[in-house]
Amino acid sequence: MLTVSGVTVSFGRNRALDGVDLAVATGEVVAILGPSGCGKSTLLRAVAGLQPLDSGEVRWDGADLNDLPVHRRDFGLMFQEHALFSHRDVAANVAFGLRMQKMDVAGRSRRVREVLGLVGLAGYQERAIATLSGGEAQRVALARSLAPEPRLLMLDEPLGSLDRPRREELTEELRVLLRRIGVTVLHVTHDHDEAFAVADRVAVMQSGRIARIGTPADIWHDPRHAAVARFLGHANVVAVGEGGAVPWGRLSVPPGPAVLRSDAFGRVDDSPPDAVDYVTGAVTDARFRGDRFELTLCTDPGDFDLLVRDPHPAAVTERLSYVIDPARISGLGTGEV
Ligand code: ADP
Ligand code: MG
Repeated sequence: MLTVSGVTVSFGRNRALDGVDLAVATGEVVAILGPSGCGKSTLLRAVAGLQPLDSGEVRWDGADLNDLPVHRRDFGLMFQEHALFSHRDVAANVAFGLRMQKMDVAGRSRRVREVLGLVGLAGYQERAIATLSGGEAQRVALARSLAPEPRLLMLDEPLGSLDRPRREELTEELRVLLRRIGVTVLHVTHDHDEAFAVADRVAVMQSGRIARIGTPADIWHDPRHAAVARFLGHANVVAVGEGGAVPWGRLSVPPGPAVLRSDAFGRVDDSPPDAVDYVTGAVTDARFRGDRFELTLCTDPGDFDLLVRDPHPAAVTERLSYVIDPARISGLGTGEV
C-alpha cells in the first residue's frame, strides 16, 4: 500500500503541500478533490518522484521511496493532456512504456492486445491517432499507462479537457474499468461528481492540506468544514447562534456553523409563529430536475437564500413553508461560515 506522511513542498514562499498524510490500500481508488491551485498535481508529482520533497516521506509497503528514481517506482501517470504520439498508431502508443522496459516484440504485442481488450478497444492496434474520438483517445492513453502493469495508477484530471456530457459518460466508463482492473488508483479532479462516482474514498484538499477524507457518503453527510461543504456543492451553510438562532428563526441544533442539506426540507401547509425547525419564505427561483424541483427560498424574516429540494412543483413568487429535519443538519467545526 501507499503511505504518504508529513509531505511538505514549497515553491519559494508558496507552500504547495503542507504536511500531507494519506494512506491508500492496495486495490483502492482514492480521489484527490480540490480547487485549482490547492496542490493536487504537486502531490501526484511528489508521489511519482518527479517533485523532490522538502520534508516527509512516501512509502510503498513500508519501504521508503525517497531514493528510488521515477522509472523504478512502477507507478503509472496519466495527465489531462494525454499527449498521444499523433504520428504513431495506437499499438506503438500503448507499447511506449513496454519499449522503455526493453520488452521483446512478441511480449509487447501480446500485452498491447491484452490491455486494448481491457479498455474496450480490441483490434485498434493499427488505427491512426487522428481517427480516434475523444473518448477513444482517452482510453488509448489509459491503456498506455496500464500496459507496464503499474502497482499504482495516478490520473491527473484525466477528463478535464472534455465537455460536460462526454465527461459524465467517460466518468462512468472509468469507474467500471478501474473496478474491473482492480488497480490501486490516485485520481485527481476538481469535480465532486466525478470524485464521488469513481472513488472508494475522497480526500478533499484545501491550500496544500487534506481537509477531509472519507467515503463519498461520509464526507457529503459530514463535511466538517464550511469550505469543504461549499466545495462539495452544499449551498446552505449558516451560522447558528446561541439558542439555535438563525436569520429566519430557530433550529434545534447546537450553536456554530452548520450545513443544512437541501433534502432536509418537508413542505407543510402553514408554519406556526415562533416554531423551531420551521421556515417560511418566497420562491425566487425554481428549477426542474426531473425527479424533483430545486428551489431558492428567500426566508421571511431574514432574507436568507436557502436551496430547497422539493418533490412537488412550485412557482416563482409562491410563498411556502417547510419543516426542517434536524437529523439532516451537520455541524461544521469552528471554521468561518
Ligand atoms: P492543482 O493541481 O491543485 O491545481 P498545483 O499542485 O499545480 O495545484 O499547484 C499548487 C501551487 O503550487 C500553486 O500555487 C502553483 O502555482 C504552485 N506551483 C506548482 N508547481 C510549481 C512550480 N513548478 N513552480 C512554482 N510554483 C508551482
Ligand atoms: Mg493540477
